[in-house]
Amino acid sequence: ITAIELTEAYISAIDAANGRLNAYIKITPDLASVMAKNSDARIAAGKAGELEGIPLGIKDLFATVGVHTQACSHILDGFEPRYESTVTQNLWDDGAVMLGKLNMDEFAMGSSNETSHYGPVINPWRASGSNQQLVPGGSSGGSAAAVAAHLCAGATATDTGGSIRQPAAFTGTVGIKPTYGRCSRWGTVAFASSLDQAGPIARDVRDAAILLKSMASVDAKDTTSVDLPVPDYEAALGQSLKGMKIGIPNEYRVDGMPDEIETLWRQGIAWLKDAGAEIVDISLPHTKYALPAYYIVAPAEASSNLARYDGVRYGLRVDGKDIVDMYEKTRAAGFGKEVKRRIMIGTYVLSAGYYDAYYIRAQKVRTLIKRDFELAFDAGVDAILTPATPSSAFGVADENLAADPVKMYLNDIFTVTVNMAGLPGIAVPAGLDHKGLPLGLQLIGKPFDEETLFKTAHVIE
Ligand code: GLN
Repeated sequence: ITAIELTEAYISAIDAANGRLNAYIKITPDLASVMAKNSDARIAAGKAGELEGIPLGIKDLFATVGVHTQACSHILDGFEPRYESTVTQNLWDDGAVMLGKLNMDEFAMGSSNETSHYGPVINPWRASGSNQQLVPGGSSGGSAAAVAAHLCAGATATDTGGSIRQPAAFTGTVGIKPTYGRCSRWGTVAFASSLDQAGPIARDVRDAAILLKSMASVDAKDTTSVDLPVPDYEAALGQSLKGMKIGIPNEYRVDGMPDEIETLWRQGIAWLKDAGAEIVDISLPHTKYALPAYYIVAPAEASSNLARYDGVRYGLRVDGKDIVDMYEKTRAAGFGKEVKRRIMIGTYVLSAGYYDAYYIRAQKVRTLIKRDFELAFDAGVDAILTPATPSSAFGVADENLAADPVKMYLNDIFTVTVNMAGLPGIAVPAGLDHKGLPLGLQLIGKPFDEETLFKTAHVIE
């Protein structure tokens, strides 16, 4: 099969299914065929890159030259960057082909892909015997749904507090958030800069390993990216787990967790034991503070990052009687409800008089969470196994969640700790629940030890 044929097959699949799923908000068939033609030429010349001719979907958070990049927000209307994100540039340099831009929660704030200006993404999965539409998770809901429905071979995604891993778990796909610093954040629209990391969502662990290898790099344009060699992650697959220690943190047995999640977790433990790993109980005592601390740190950074959308520099402008009025009208019209909520929380926790009580306290909690993990790793644990989410995918427009944003935030209970500590985490499909919906397990690793996660996740998938 040629790159052109492969690309055309994906474009027709998108044309057929996207009306139903809303995974892509912009399809780029002309660009895709130029890229694919170039791929075929390089293949013919014996100069194929590692990802030559592989069609990918790109989350709308990554800047792509001349192509719609709006973080699925109204405030970035019409924004077409003149620069390319480092992560996508790395993929194109390896020969990948862009199919289009993928739907997401506005500015990556959400856990259901329902805060997008372009409307919700529909999960390709249905509960057995039911026609109810389910969310694909968020914020990388378009990426996860597109991969699950074969609307791309793999997708880029980002994870600030679970946005790669939770949608992967909800759609039966594999998603890895690498260590903070593994991928450059340059050209990725910033949400919470100390937590944001790019990573792939893919159909299996091998594809995720191949994609991350291409996406990762040190980058002079992002001083938090790290100058470490990027290993051949694929080579780690199939290696034995003998001699490995897997930690099971008791604190992840949260109240109200369905029995079947517990059962899935036990099943995962059994698989890893069979593969030769030693299982040890560990304690991460500050786990219960991770979610409240995350929902202070992330909005605080977001409120600062989103100050730049003022109607002058990018996208939407709503005229006013003077410049301040223009700022206010533009921001009032341009941001959605959840984004406004985050800006207000963030501004509040950073304001004089509350800064010490909220923001500084949350940063201290963050250090304690990080230390919990360090102690476990110092004691010889190689990776930690937990559930990825406290439930399977829930319904679109769930009234309980709409009425209470904190309930939506609770979805991130197992994922935010990893961002707070800057560690790598992978979500891997591990089974189905009683409704026939996918459930995922999460593996958390040592800093820059994504190899161990790929190797271990490969045993589970
Ligand atoms: N659901 C989390 C939030 O809304 C995570 C978002 C993310 O990882 N981008 O903040």
